[in-house]
Amino acid sequence: MSEKYDVVVIGAGPAGYVGAIRAAQLGLKTAVVELWTGDKNKSILGGTCLNTGCIPSKALLDSSQKFADARDRLSTHGIGIKSPTIDVAAMQKRKQTIVEQLTGGIAGLFKHNGVTVIEGRGKVLAGAKVEVTDSKGKVKVVDATDVIIAAGSEPVKIPPAPVDDKYIVDSTGALEFTEVPGRLGVIGAGVIGLELGSVWGRLGSEVILLEALDTFLPMMDAQISKESAKIFKKQDLDIRLGSRVTATEIKNDKVEVTYESADGTQTEVFDKLIVSVGRRPRSEELLASDSGVTLDERGFIYVNDFCATEAPHVYAVGDVVRGPMLAHKGSEEGVMVAERIAGKKVQVNYDCIPSIIYTHPEIAAVGRTEQELKTDGVDYKVGVFPFAASGRALAADDSEGMVKIIADAETDRILGCHVVGPSAADLVQQVVIAMEFGSSAEDLALMVFGHPTLSEAVHEAALAVDGHAIHVA
Ligand code: FAD
Repeated sequence: MSEKYDVVVIGAGPAGYVGAIRAAQLGLKTAVVELWTGDKNKSILGGTCLNTGCIPSKALLDSSQKFADARDRLSTHGIGIKSPTIDVAAMQKRKQTIVEQLTGGIAGLFKHNGVTVIEGRGKVLAGAKVEVTDSKGKVKVVDATDVIIAAGSEPVKIPPAPVDDKYIVDSTGALEFTEVPGRLGVIGAGVIGLELGSVWGRLGSEVILLEALDTFLPMMDAQISKESAKIFKKQDLDIRLGSRVTATEIKNDKVEVTYESADGTQTEVFDKLIVSVGRRPRSEELLASDSGVTLDERGFIYVNDFCATEAPHVYAVGDVVRGPMLAHKGSEEGVMVAERIAGKKVQVNYDCIPSIIYTHPEIAAVGRTEQELKTDGVDYKVGVFPFAASGRALAADDSEGMVKIIADAETDRILGCHVVGPSAADLVQQVVIAMEFGSSAEDLALMVFGHPTLSEAVHEAALAVDGHAIHVA
């Protein structure tokens, strides 16, 4: 006899677990099918984000930043620390404790909300049924009124640099180093490559990032990318654009990397090499041939604006569908689908999804870039405020970067905000709220911002949109 649920979710990452909890809160009998559940003593629910993504990377970024501050920055405050040392094992243990606290928390939240966890690999069958194969190979079929696929993504592999988990690692391996590599190569200077390169660079690795594209961070506003590149250069992150890796070889306990650049064929020798060239949807072995669910040309599950697939009563959310591969984007899609299944008419505003790179300083953005607006022929105006003119940033000895606000030339409605600088993620979130309320730059300019705060840089950038920032000439 098959089990029957109102909603069966495949995958307990941030898209799936959040969707499942919301469905259960709405009174729907909900189960989550998950490959990585751990055991009764230790949950590993939470997907990439909690286990091998957002959370462990931020734990290491925070530890390594504290180390770098102690080594490089505290002396200007009059604080003397003689040669700080790093205990990588202790740093990794702290990271693991945080991961386990959070993954255990998901198990607790499931229990509290009455969400059933079914261990195994889920496959969508025709008619909104889910076949589950557990780790012992036992197969059962679970019946659902509605299915939500949230199977996530995995690192892209490239033939010239096969991951061996010893010398050549992907992002997961790069979170597990037991010592600081002397020379660290990173293939890909995107979000993950920059974050992981920063972690080990701050701790003392000589880091070289090899990026095939000629443009640095092309998805960000070009002015912000340019400013960020300047800041990273000062941090000794050696970012080589237009450098396409063609081969690797393990030799004498090192990895030799060959790459092509404008200067011809080059080689570099590293102790470790991180491959971070992007992620791809985990859509293989997930769908029976008659499931009715279709994929797009890049292997993402095809969905409409409301995350409905082409099969009735089957939805897909998170990294496995189009859009930015971000935990918060997936979670909001999970909530939207749960609510729509329960009959509520909600939607995700895809124009207002913030994206963040957790380097130091952070880089964050929401909305349109200047180059996108130019391409679309939209008339706009720009306000920029440098942190070098912010009292709070100077007091904190953290005054690199800028806030940039872009508004429609005619209506003054805010079209985008781009920040590189201290607490960029939290500053951009303020503008996300403003944009959700349809604010104009003048609305922000007329608000009172506490002094002295980093937020004043947002205020001043909004004032600068109409050319009357106060604290900049
Ligand atoms: P996932 O988190 O990948 O979860 C999918 C789950 O589905 C997994 O648990 C998997 O085991 C399970 N699964 C897959 N197939 C099946 C199946 N057939 N049956 C059963 N279970 C299955 N995003 C941010 O927003 N902020 C960050 O700071 C950030 N940092 C990152 C750092 C790194 C190093 C990496 C790698 C990623 C980072 N991301 C970040 C991206 C973020 O982790 C993903 O966007 C997010 O985890 C996607 O959520 P998801 O639920 O769609 O998929």
